[in-house]
Amino acid sequence: MQNLNFIEGRWTPSATGQTLPVIDPATEQAFAEIPRGTAEDIDAAVTAAEKALNAGWRNTTGAQRAKLLRAIAQGIEAEAEALAQLDVRDCGKPIIEARYDAGDAALCFNYYADLAEALDARQGEAIAIGDDRFEVKLRYEPAGVAGLIVPWNFPLVNAAWKVAPALAAGCSVVIKPSELASLSTLSLARIAETAGLPAGVLNVVTGLGSEAGARLAGHPGIAKVSFTGGVDSGRRVMQARAELVGDVALELGGKSAMIVFADVDLDHAVEWILMGSLYNQGQVCAATSRVLVQESVYEALLTKLHAAVVGLRVGAGVDDTTQVGPLISAAQRDRVASMVRQGIEQGARVLCGGDVSASHGTGFYYPPTVLLDVSRENLLWTEEIFGPVLSVTRFSTEAQAIELANDSRFGLAAAVLCNDQAQRERVASSLVAGIVWANCSGPAFIQAPWGGVKQSGFRRGLGEWGMHEFLELKQITTYISDQAWGHFTAAS
Ligand code: NAD
Repeated sequence: MQNLNFIEGRWTPSATGQTLPVIDPATEQAFAEIPRGTAEDIDAAVTAAEKALNAGWRNTTGAQRAKLLRAIAQGIEAEAEALAQLDVRDCGKPIIEARYDAGDAALCFNYYADLAEALDARQGEAIAIGDDRFEVKLRYEPAGVAGLIVPWNFPLVNAAWKVAPALAAGCSVVIKPSELASLSTLSLARIAETAGLPAGVLNVVTGLGSEAGARLAGHPGIAKVSFTGGVDSGRRVMQARAELVGDVALELGGKSAMIVFADVDLDHAVEWILMGSLYNQGQVCAATSRVLVQESVYEALLTKLHAAVVGLRVGAGVDDTTQVGPLISAAQRDRVASMVRQGIEQGARVLCGGDVSASHGTGFYYPPTVLLDVSRENLLWTEEIFGPVLSVTRFSTEAQAIELANDSRFGLAAAVLCNDQAQRERVASSLVAGIVWANCSGPAFIQAPWGGVKQSGFRRGLGEWGMHEFLELKQITTYISDQAWGHFTAAS
């Protein structure tokens, strides 16, 4: 199957006609192709987006945009199963998780439809300035053309979380999905086309980060870049934006910690440890992959965790019973294997997993792996692994747990499991992270802000903050007094 870019409402090959293969991580077979988009394709998409913006999209009301967003949500709902199957094939995730993603994407469009509508009532809001000669009113205006760059780990959701708020704000969009999982973003464009979104408002260019991605980040016609991906790519995107003095929001990686206090139910704790570290094969930016367990329950928890991890059903994502699927690519599997090997050389001990040769024959599988005795210098402690790998460390006091949890250059998320409410709240407020989960790990809600601190990036996606990322705030100040101003004209 050959796919095409979506530019100005037309399905078109890349300017060079070159393509990239799409590989099913469970079978290692190529089953489709996507365009290898070039700078020229990005330029055409940005021109189309500018044209659509100025032809009227910029001046639509929130209510008009809400109607279209709801139609897109309906389209996603109608095709939810097919979209889920597509993401499974494209990136290997278990179907049960892909179905959840499709539901989340539809919810996201409906949610931002509501916010777009509510925005109309806020246009012209007056603010108190303490001077009755003036009236100051606010206008929320679309930032312009939004350049969206997203990763492969939640393909449909990554796209929805940015496209929906950008359209709600009245921006037109050029999105470059990951070269490793672009198919559901192309489907989203087809759904938007069917829903009646005007040509050029949403454009999709597939291709490599160093080619199409780099041009999008550095394009002077882009008012706002919203990037989700790794720290190294984020740094390059920020450098490109700095040249233009252009706005950018970065949602980057993490190395999040989960603190387990001795007073919790250990079976519940194991459940949340698995959710926090092995969901989507651990390919989650906010994975709580550093698990800190209070001394007195450490051994008992390890016994339960070991039993749970070795009992996980590893297999192809298409299988309804699969809990852990293959990783996205051979390169990612090899990277995870190499990091675990180096971590073991640096002194870590394997509780279970850790041996890639013990995995399935075909498919980019890596066994769920638990490591112990991971020192603070060990790369398994400092680096994001982005695979089904977690480390467990013991602590004795609350202060020690907080210190260990915050010992990271990242600050995306953190979790605390603790039944003592006062202690739980104290710890939650001491954790340096954009997201703190208490007595759970992993849930993400469209209505709540998403993003991190330190090298996990800055600004917030989702919630009302996600839409405001794509809005410019203008003040209109009117002199309403009958009196002459008099500064230069008053008699002395
Ligand atoms: P990546 O940085 O390799 O790629 C992300 C996207 O950026 C892709 O579309 C890629 O083509 C593009 N890209 C790469 N180099 C670029 C450049 N120089 N200029 C412009 N675009 C470029 O990341 P990945 O491997 O796709 O995803 C994994 C990373 O994403 C992990 O570090 C993970 O933590 C992070 N992530 C973060 C969040 C979050 O919300 N904070 C969510 C998901 C993933």
